[in-house]
Amino acid sequence: MTKHVVITGANRGIGLGFVRHYLSQGDKVSACCRQPSQASALIQLAEIYGNLNILQLDVTDDASVKALPQHLNDHTIDILINNAGYYGPKGEGFGQLHSAEWQKVLAINTIAPLMVTQICYPMIQKATDAKVVFISSKMGSMGDNQSGGSYLYRSSKAGLNAAVKSLAIDLSSEDIYCAIFHPGWVQTEMGGPNALLTVTEAVEQMTQCIEKLDSESSGKFLNYDGQVIPW
Ligand code: NDP
Repeated sequence: MTKHVVITGANRGIGLGFVRHYLSQGDKVSACCRQPSQASALIQLAEIYGNLNILQLDVTDDASVKALPQHLNDHTIDILINNAGYYGPKGEGFGQLHSAEWQKVLAINTIAPLMVTQICYPMIQKATDAKVVFISSKMGSMGDNQSGGSYLYRSSKAGLNAAVKSLAIDLSSEDIYCAIFHPGWVQTEMGGPNALLTVTEAVEQMTQCIEKLDSESSGKFLNYDGQVIPW
């Protein structure tokens, strides 16, 4: 059955990979990005696929988030992928931490995915088999942290994981399942050219996991291949 998939940060990187995947499956995709007029890859795809909508969304702008249901015509959402993310300035080690930058990273990576999900909730509830996906990072794993540093990014993804754990419990009675993924080290602007996985490889594996997501795997911190990662 055709699904409606909503993706944030859809203009490049992993988000664009999800757009390509679901379009190729014949699904209806709402691709959210900050500047639709500059989103050349999405504009090209929209010329080929009639089932792609490009929507304006800055995930940290309250007005932009509040406008989302109207932009989506209150349509049922089968899969919401909270992908937009920001690493923050490199080299902000202890001694050079700046609260304004830290707050920006937390706003994008921790708070925004929950605010976007909250505004989409009535549309998610309309689906029979709804899934909400959060692209986190192994950098947010405390069990995996052997090298220190990366205070802003690590804390933002650890905070996201904590919030989504609660969300998964809260939504379990409605059979709405939540996935928290480490996408792997992926060749994007954030991951850099030496990363181990192509966007296609990471997305193909995560979408297989999304397909299988159930009450058992909901709320777990999963590697892109479905393996459980320590918190
Ligand atoms: P990119 O830097 O390539 O893309 C980031 C995306 O997020 C862009 O579309 C960007 O939009 C969007 N974005 C940033 N801030 C905002 C905002 N305020 N509102 C809306 N969109 C925003 O990164 P990736 O594709 O690699 O990352 C995708 C996700 O995967 C992120 O959550 C990241 O933390 C996570 N991740 C990535 C890894 C990797 O190796 N690549 C490893 C682990 C996790 P714009 O073009 O307008 O800036």
